[in-house]
Amino acid sequence: MINIDWKKLVFGYTKTNYNVRCYYRDGKWGSLELSSSETINIHIAATALHYGQEAFEGLKAFMGKDGKVRVFRWEENAKRLHRSAEGILMAPVPEELFQKALFKVIKHNKDFIPPYGSGASLYIRPLLIGSGAQVGVKPANEYLFVMFVTPVGPYFKEGFNPVDIQIVRDFDRAAPLGTGHLKVGGNYAASLRAGVRAHDEGFASALFLDAKTKTYIDEAGPANFFGIANGKYITPDSTSILPSITNMSLQTLATEMGLHVEKRHITLEELAQFEEVGACGTAAVISPIKKILDRDSNRVFEYCKDGKAGPISTKLYQTLQGIQFGDIEDKYNWITFVD
Ligand SMILES: *Cc1c(COP(=O)(O)O)cnc(C)c1O
Repeated sequence: MINIDWKKLVFGYTKTNYNVRCYYRDGKWGSLELSSSETINIHIAATALHYGQEAFEGLKAFMGKDGKVRVFRWEENAKRLHRSAEGILMAPVPEELFQKALFKVIKHNKDFIPPYGSGASLYIRPLLIGSGAQVGVKPANEYLFVMFVTPVGPYFKEGFNPVDIQIVRDFDRAAPLGTGHLKVGGNYAASLRAGVRAHDEGFASALFLDAKTKTYIDEAGPANFFGIANGKYITPDSTSILPSITNMSLQTLATEMGLHVEKRHITLEELAQFEEVGACGTAAVISPIKKILDRDSNRVFEYCKDGKAGPISTKLYQTLQGIQFGDIEDKYNWITFVD
């Protein structure tokens, strides 16, 4: 029997019973293997280690009140991993293999799915790496696809409580024609210094601007950015941000709530006009933002004057979580049951 205090879970790694793996060799994917080892054996010249041929995904499974396990929009994660693979010349994972791995890894770790009502969920981490040896700068001939799971609590210790973030200009996460639109490890390596410094200075995250002109909002570290003003849900349009599945879902819900959705450039000036702003992603769903500090000019933009998340962000958050946990009707077919 496992012994986990579900309410105390943070967003971190907890060992589970199994993970699944599949190797791509001689131009084809092999069989899906179940493993109870937490490590992989990798060639010292693997391209993932030297040239960053690595992509990952993140999605969640939720336990409903009815005892059924729900996975949220996994097809979108499978498609995005496919795009990431193509973007850095890796062998793409076929959707059927992604689905098989997903169902297998969840079924073999049933005991680790946090119970309904705990607020926690099962985070699923698919990983695709160039495992073949190469010394010259070339794509690998062999790939490894791994999927592991870990039960997680909220991403920010504040939960659904407003956080502060800081605008940075002395670091870029991704170049306009680089790999910002792909979920690859290299973007994360590039954003670590800004992220850790933001933390050290008391902020939940850094807010990156467009790398070329430093005029527009790009994204908030590992989460997309949105603002609410005059009945509109506004989110940046940029070639260097990662298309968030949470953001895409919130846009659908916002439209349903009667908001007008705009995907376009957002200038710094505009931050002063927003009634609510937030960061969104699988980990936290929405992190409401109460303060944005421009680290260079010391200009401050403030929201949530009463200390609480705004009404629209709250409604969006509750609706999306409600669908994920099965408390609100899944009109858009976002849920897949794992039995
Ligand atoms: C994964 C990720 C997001 C959030 O995407 P979701 O699909 O909503 O989880 C946002 N920005 C970056 C850079 C990411 O890697």
